[in-house]
Amino acid sequence: MTKFTDLNLNPKVLKAIEEAGYETPTPIQAGAIPPALEGRDVLGIAQTGTGKTASFTLPMITMLARGRARARMPRSLVLCPTRELAAQVAENFDTYAKHVKLTKALLIGGVSFKEQDALIDKGVDVLIATPGRLLDHFERGKLLLTGVQVMVVDEADRMLDMGFIPDIERIFSLTPFTRQTLFFSATMAPEIERITNTFLSGPARIEVARQATASETIEQAVVQFKASRRDREGSEKRKVLRALIDNEGDKLTNGIIFCNRKSDVDIVAKSLKKYGYDASPIHGDLDQSQRTKTLDGFREGSLRILVASDVAARGLDVPSVSHVFNFDVPGHAEDYVHRIGRTGRAGREGKAITICIPRDDKALDAVEKLIQKEIPRLDNPVKPEPKAEKPARAAKPEPEAREPRKEAARSPRKDEKPAQKPERASGRGKYGKRDDKSVVGMGDHLPSFIALSFAERRAS
Ligand code: AMP
Repeated sequence: MTKFTDLNLNPKVLKAIEEAGYETPTPIQAGAIPPALEGRDVLGIAQTGTGKTASFTLPMITMLARGRARARMPRSLVLCPTRELAAQVAENFDTYAKHVKLTKALLIGGVSFKEQDALIDKGVDVLIATPGRLLDHFERGKLLLTGVQVMVVDEADRMLDMGFIPDIERIFSLTPFTRQTLFFSATMAPEIERITNTFLSGPARIEVARQATASETIEQAVVQFKASRRDREGSEKRKVLRALIDNEGDKLTNGIIFCNRKSDVDIVAKSLKKYGYDASPIHGDLDQSQRTKTLDGFREGSLRILVASDVAARGLDVPSVSHVFNFDVPGHAEDYVHRIGRTGRAGREGKAITICIPRDDKALDAVEKLIQKEIPRLDNPVKPEPKAEKPARAAKPEPEAREPRKEAARSPRKDEKPAQKPERASGRGKYGKRDDKSVVGMGDHLPSFIALSFAERRAS
């Protein structure tokens, strides 16, 4: 088995690895570090959770330990699809480079331009950025990319999903063609293949086992459920979710609930909070300080449930999550694998439960095809309510979160409102028809002719 000491890493990097408590390199590290240190391009096909971040940061620190940064010309560049991922890569640099003097700057939305400008002006060894923010800086003339010796593209498949590929191509063209490229993607979509063929030269290709096959410690289940009425789908789905959470009891130490839409992330989080669950949302529209606070709380264990969109949760390193709930079946089957991969990490046990409404049956088929197994079905924990014989006046409305106004205008999902409004107590609306024969305002005595219909009265 390969040891870290076999990999030719800088002794100061080895010391930091030891202090981090790592004993042996993961397969992606054992495969990618030697060619990277030889100066070769690397194409790593690996997902988050495989140790891929260290597979590029460790050789980079070793290489950058020699030489010095020049003003406004970063020596290396790491591109990440999201701010969280960029911040996480930056943390990795801090951990592994703690005994080496390296400077770095982080160019992501939500972090002030001014401070980062000042760092770049002085010269940085490592620049970690999201593509859009990097190009903003470049266009403002604050940055030269001609000194980049090593460029990393992390989570390229997610960049593709987010429409960043043109930006990536542009950034490639702004860096010297002699640069070394370390390129990582969980999958090799044709567009990704094209980019790697264009911009990588003779890369060492390292592919590690997909999480789909490595997740044997994750217990999976699907609850198939059909709402009693289309306009109640949202609120009934949330009820199913609450019942699923309750059923897990203390086994649920911390969990992530994934929703396909940002608007649902907010609604589900608010709804859970109203019902007394310890839950907070995270998605791209929340401001950075809010996102950081929520994530830190979740990592430290002070927040039990994180409600997230795929993009926000992508690449987040939360070491032990006991449960993953899919409020929706993801539209891309690959995302299912990423989502459930948040639990059952490093051989721990984990549970992933997915709620599937009839509209999502096709997406569920795609997931099962991808993971090549049928996910066991779980009974809906919410028993259908017996049909109400009495009018629903006494029923207390469900304390649900209202949808944002904007959303409501876009897609008229009225699932909150009917629950708020008790139904009419009797058929007596403004234009209400009376269909019973009871009489209001006459006591028990009813003259018999009144009970006759108009025709009967004429005939009598
Ligand atoms: P990543 O795939 O880069 O997101 O890493 C996933 C997790 O594995 C992170 O928490 C790392 O700190 C951890 N890790 C990375 N390399 C090793 C290693 N060789 N041994 C143990 N843990 C590691």
